[in-house]
Amino acid sequence: MTNQTATDNPYLLLTPGPLSTSQAVREAMMRDWCTWDRDYNELVQAIREKLVRLATTRFEEYTTVLMQGSGTFSVEAVLSSVIPADGKLLVLTNGAYGDRMVQMARVHGIPTEVMDFGEVSPVAEAPLEELLEQDAAITHIAVVHSETTTGMLNPIADIGEVAKRFGKTYIVDAMSSFGGIPLDMAELHIDYLISSANKCIQGVPGFGFVIAKTTELATCKGRARTLSLDLYDQWETMEKHNGKWRYTSPTHVVRAFYQALVELEEEGGVAKRYERYKRSQQILSEGLERLGFRILLPKEFQSPFITSIYYPDSAAFTFGAFYERLKQAGFVIYPGKISQADTFRIGNIGEVYPEDMQRLLAAVEENRFW
Ligand SMILES: *Cc1c(COP(=O)(O)O)cnc(C)c1O
Repeated sequence: MTNQTATDNPYLLLTPGPLSTSQAVREAMMRDWCTWDRDYNELVQAIREKLVRLATTRFEEYTTVLMQGSGTFSVEAVLSSVIPADGKLLVLTNGAYGDRMVQMARVHGIPTEVMDFGEVSPVAEAPLEELLEQDAAITHIAVVHSETTTGMLNPIADIGEVAKRFGKTYIVDAMSSFGGIPLDMAELHIDYLISSANKCIQGVPGFGFVIAKTTELATCKGRARTLSLDLYDQWETMEKHNGKWRYTSPTHVVRAFYQALVELEEEGGVAKRYERYKRSQQILSEGLERLGFRILLPKEFQSPFITSIYYPDSAAFTFGAFYERLKQAGFVIYPGKISQADTFRIGNIGEVYPEDMQRLLAAVEENRFW
């Protein structure tokens, strides 16, 4: 046995996933599982049950489907499996992940309307209402909760109210928020919520999951536009065969995810994890502002998960050099993703604590070369 310590990792990942995981999560992967065996399938069922209870207090009305691949595969599984041939999708977007849903819909030939709110404004319900009054053909509305492009937290409750009032099916990409902020799908009128193993639940990458209103998903038989991403078929197999996946599943990753769920409970649940993230993000943004940096988003739109920061106003600054110096100091940060300004990003989800943010700020100050 080698002595596995947290310092096996040469640096902390301050990224929006994959992210730094706990030693116990990584160690949970150190055995092999038979994908058809009862031991493994029971683990899958326990995960599905835990996820639905994390998503809503009305858990009897909802169900979970796990899907191989990264988070994008699960988003595509939903969009390509739940919209009927005569349906029409509306995507509200303000970043790359909203745009990606539009791209998927186009690949599958799904009639799609796009409302683009730019990169630094939250999506809003007033123009949505107006559009829904004009276009009765729209059947499904999709939005990203935490737009990882900028760190924007979109008002999914307001959008859910409108979706409910107009009787539309409501799809939320909660990839980088689920498990890190309290929410209740039933209260928010969400029919499909999508997330993945390697974000706020703090597992390792390899699969995504969809939490769905059971009565909605039950209508989706035969609607899928692909075989391997057929959400209904995957669900039916998991339901009928007690946690069986249709094709080879990422067994080690699934076992590590179970451990990550246990650790979420040990931390005190989603509310406590949210407090940690919020505290870390606050220390980070206030500390950077003290060091002369400017944050992209106003505080009221800022998520507790990832922060976009403007490049310092100096010709001597390059992101490449800054990145390398921080990596040497033990921190991996993230490039920016928006088109209208030069920014970089720092994530604070994962096995990352407020003290790590203090250490990062000290490293930023020490490595200032501009
Ligand atoms: C991470 C993420 C995804 C999925 O990205 P993958 O690279 O496919 O895991 C989708 N939407 C949002 C908002 C994300 O943060």
